[in-house]
Amino acid sequence: MDRYLVKPGKKIKLDEWDPNDKSLFDLEKDEAEDALIKLNNKLEKLQEMLYIEQKHSLLIILQGMDTSGKDGVIRHVFDGVNPQGVRVASFKVPTAEELAHDYLWRIHKQTPRKGEIVIFNRSQYEDVLVVRVHSLVPEDVWKKRYEQINAFEKTLAESGTTILKFYLHIDKDEQKDRLQARLDEPDKNWKFNPGDLEERKLWPEYQKAYEDVLSKTSTEAAPWYVIPANRKWYRNLLIGEILVETLKNLDMQLPEIDFNPKEIVIE
Ligand code: AMP
Ligand code: MG
Repeated sequence: MDRYLVKPGKKIKLDEWDPNDKSLFDLEKDEAEDALIKLNNKLEKLQEMLYIEQKHSLLIILQGMDTSGKDGVIRHVFDGVNPQGVRVASFKVPTAEELAHDYLWRIHKQTPRKGEIVIFNRSQYEDVLVVRVHSLVPEDVWKKRYEQINAFEKTLAESGTTILKFYLHIDKDEQKDRLQARLDEPDKNWKFNPGDLEERKLWPEYQKAYEDVLSKTSTEAAPWYVIPANRKWYRNLLIGEILVETLKNLDMQLPEIDFNPKEIVIE
């Protein structure tokens, strides 16, 4: 899976990353579905251990262009995981209250407590993506944010939070197909947002902004993965695998007990 990891300090050019790549798993559709169910089960058990231990937290950050599959990942990768152990935080256009604070204020409030998994659907990175592309703040303001975000994430990591960041990499043709499907299929019409077409016109600007994010903010404490996401099944399996591997490496243990259950008699 390391092939998808952005090495800290590496300068990223997205056209060198193939959004159709499926080199790690060579599977048919039904095989991929079975493999995902197995991962769902493993994730369920690992999440339970995380909760029992109350020692670590896991923060998962999802970013990607419109239609790249952020919602799909949340729905499919976490299928079967106890809803009590996982929370999703979605970051939309900031409210007046949020804008009256620093940009990390609303983010920090949503970070996971010990024993918890939190998934960010969009994140602090919007403040160097949409904010940059639309010049919502001056350049000298957003430029400072890469370092601020790295420091923020380091603080979380040093406090026991494991951070994984996934950029869902689709190409412009794939986005066209997915937007078209939202027009063609009546049960998907609700997902169509005419504003997405305006954002689509800014594709090159967004790709550039993403390249800077990936190049400047993949750190030991909080690495980025570029996930080939034109194929939904591959995207889901890859993220599932990375989550399972990461949680396994936490080497979680059941708590020691200070009584002998065999000696206890319940009257
Ligand atoms: P969606 O994820 O499709 O529900 O859309 C949420 C919208 O909120 C997207 O268009 C984001 O670009 C926008 N958004 C999220 N965070 C910010 C932010 N910090 N500043 C401006 N727009 C944002
Ligand atoms: Mg949207």
